Amino acid sequence: MKEKQLPNSSDSFRDQFNAVSEDGKRNWFYPQQPQGKWHDRRVWFTVGILLILFVLPFLKLNGQPLILLNVVERKFIIFGVFIGPQDYWLFGLSMLSFMLFIVLFTSIFGRLWCGWACPQTVFMEMIFRKIEYAIEGDSGKQKLLNKAPWNSQKIVKKGSKYLIFLAVSFLIANLLLSYVLGVDELSRIIHEPIEDHLSLFGGIVIFTLVFYFNFAWLRDQACTVVCPYGRLQGVLMDRNSIVVAYDYERGEPREKLRRGQDRSAGDCISCYQCVSVCPTGIDIRNGTQMECINCTACIDACDHIMDKVGLKPGLIRYTSENAIIQKSKRLITPRVIGYMVILALVWSVLGYTLVTRSATQTTLFRAPGSQYIDNANGTISNLYTYKIFNKTNHGIRPEIKLDMPEARLQFVGQPDWTLPATGMLEGTVFINIPKTSLNKRKTKIRLYVYDGQEKLETLETTFMAPAR
Ligand code: SF4
Ligand code: SF4
Repeated sequence: MKEKQLPNSSDSFRDQFNAVSEDGKRNWFYPQQPQGKWHDRRVWFTVGILLILFVLPFLKLNGQPLILLNVVERKFIIFGVFIGPQDYWLFGLSMLSFMLFIVLFTSIFGRLWCGWACPQTVFMEMIFRKIEYAIEGDSGKQKLLNKAPWNSQKIVKKGSKYLIFLAVSFLIANLLLSYVLGVDELSRIIHEPIEDHLSLFGGIVIFTLVFYFNFAWLRDQACTVVCPYGRLQGVLMDRNSIVVAYDYERGEPREKLRRGQDRSAGDCISCYQCVSVCPTGIDIRNGTQMECINCTACIDACDHIMDKVGLKPGLIRYTSENAIIQKSKRLITPRVIGYMVILALVWSVLGYTLVTRSATQTTLFRAPGSQYIDNANGTISNLYTYKIFNKTNHGIRPEIKLDMPEARLQFVGQPDWTLPATGMLEGTVFINIPKTSLNKRKTKIRLYVYDGQEKLETLETTFMAPAR
């Protein structure tokens, strides 16, 4: 079967970056307001995402935030599990599995994340853009307003829009801070005099301005120029990835619709509605492009046109390159299932490691250069150094116990067993064992770390005695 070629198969459209005009100036896009089935679904999804984003910082488990991302002090709480500075390996493992997740997820679902859940798209397309439509009207009116001379109407419209943008940016900056500091800390800081928290206040101001700049000016360029994930699409996706795509097998050759004329061309009537609604200003009919954030606006626009001219919807739809060529609707292939199984496994292992790790991390080594001591009371002593890290974000009282009833622990000095959150306790200890219990030069002994009745860790070490 002969494959149809993409209309712009020369790829010449890739020589030019849509967001920049030929004379090097910014191409400001005025996408038409999206409407349709997919947009409605995205609106409901956004409501869910925003609810989660704004409610999550208030949720607590055992008096602790459910989620805390304190990058400054390197303390994280993920669904109630505290990851402190001692858990670098766990953090590294999480990052590795997160990267693997991104690679596999993108290779299956393309930029599903960008279109539906990325905070940049959610806030830009569903909040800021909607405020703009509400105040300035649809794309045509926005263009006219921008060209119009500064009069009272323009000042009121632009002024109110940018004031609301600033207020929403301030809200987002506080939302971000509530994830970094926790809502309790944030509320305490808000209620205290500003001069006591000048650096933090400065941080809020800077973040507010960064968000304002991003949503009022940078916009689509955050996705097409700044975001590294967007730029990685070319290597992460293949011909089986599910993306928003134009079915050129069905649409080509495209031709304008003319009343009363027999139509032998493809289904695309060259109405350019898919281009008019695109927030990144591309023509999806040229094929998958780095700028496409999979926002689904072109699907709705094209379905609306297809409906109007009496053709089947879905000329632009979620599909894969191979599904278009093979004219198949099957998107869940064995490869997709395989990747999803690997993803589920990776996250299960990580989840299991997180919930089963111990609250402390204890090391116990024989003191360097020390020998056994043959005591007059019939026991042998070995000297050890120990370190106990509290990996939790609450205080504990660890207790070391020996798995040998006749053996005794004799701590040097009087250690303070109150171990604060993420704190560390270190010291030296003698282990004394009656000679009668030792029948070889090296004996393996086991110790436990307890917090009250809860056993936190099991340790093993070697005890040296005279040869018998
Ligand atoms: S091509 Fe379609 S899905 Fe991609 S960004 Fe433009 S409107 Fe959104
Ligand atoms: S909206 Fe549909 S019919 Fe119109 S130009 Fe785009 S692909 Fe063709």
